[in-house]
Amino acid sequence: MLEEVKCLGIESTAHTFSSSIVRLKSLKEGEILSNVRSIYTPPKGSGIHPTEASRHHTKVAPAIMHSSLKEAKLTMKDIDVIAYSAGPGLGPCLRVGATIARALASYYNKPIVPTNHAIGHIELGCFLTGLLDPLVLLISGGHTLITAYAGKRWRIFGETLDLTIGQILDQFGRELGYSSPAGSIIEELASNSKNYILMPYTVKGNDVSFSGLLTYAKKLLAKGYKVEDICYSLQETAFAMLCETFERAIAFCEKREAMVVGGVAANKRLSSMVNSLADRYKINLKVVPMEYSGDCGAQIAVVGALAFKAGYSVGVEKSLVRRSWRIDDVEIFWRD
Ligand code: AMP
Ligand code: MG
Repeated sequence: MLEEVKCLGIESTAHTFSSSIVRLKSLKEGEILSNVRSIYTPPKGSGIHPTEASRHHTKVAPAIMHSSLKEAKLTMKDIDVIAYSAGPGLGPCLRVGATIARALASYYNKPIVPTNHAIGHIELGCFLTGLLDPLVLLISGGHTLITAYAGKRWRIFGETLDLTIGQILDQFGRELGYSSPAGSIIEELASNSKNYILMPYTVKGNDVSFSGLLTYAKKLLAKGYKVEDICYSLQETAFAMLCETFERAIAFCEKREAMVVGGVAANKRLSSMVNSLADRYKINLKVVPMEYSGDCGAQIAVVGALAFKAGYSVGVEKSLVRRSWRIDDVEIFWRD
């Protein structure tokens, strides 16, 4: 077995097309050699149109693939394995990444690792933060869940029952006339207010529900409430719901490490709220560095390298895509 694996990772689940090359010995030892991306931006006021996003990916793919090799100072011959995001995600977008992976694997005779995108956020987070067994809060456009590793799987200790946190921020942003992703714009607007308006707060068991909150925020907007106050209250309410469930999971799991990953981890208010939680419980909490919080090829390349090192890869005929794919369905070969 190779001691060190060079993996080319391709990400294309939704708005981002990205390619990355990593050199990895283990989760503790390795290097990201390149991580290049291009993000599809829909017209103002609209969300991702899957076919339009897939057209964007097809258009930018050659240049992005080329740059990732160039930045890593490698050629395809140096690559040991090709990984691609096999799901969950938007069908047309997933197929672009899978098709490129298949074509490269066939032409250069390389093995393939179909990779779960959410597991990618988590394992890249572990690689970057140095936390090997954290309780994880994954908050992004596609996911909102709390997970911890046990018995070959990332087990779910709480999740959203409807919309993800990224979706409510993006959908409210669209209501304001911005295009997705709008999380950072909402953060900016929220930072100009301290006027909290009471909003629906829905925690059921250790799960959250965001749809009522989004509807309420839209209603306040229609009634003429100040945009900054709504953004502030929306963030405070949604983040408090996440913190309540995360706190309960911290107490339940008794882990000494915790990590926040996914695009919404870039939010400073969220970061400060989870950090004060960690101080109270005296646990070691790390938030994934902002550069790697959103979707990127590195999350796919890290998992591809780990899986390949553990002896897992498939041939071209098994390199399929899955639009729905829960993380607790994925067997983790590379962890004890
Ligand atoms: P991902 O799906 O992991 O790429 O994450 C994308 C999501 O992160 C989108 O819903 C964005 O609106 C959201 N996002 C990005 N930056 C921020 C931010 N600063 N605050 C809140 N959400 C953010
Ligand atoms: Mg993501």
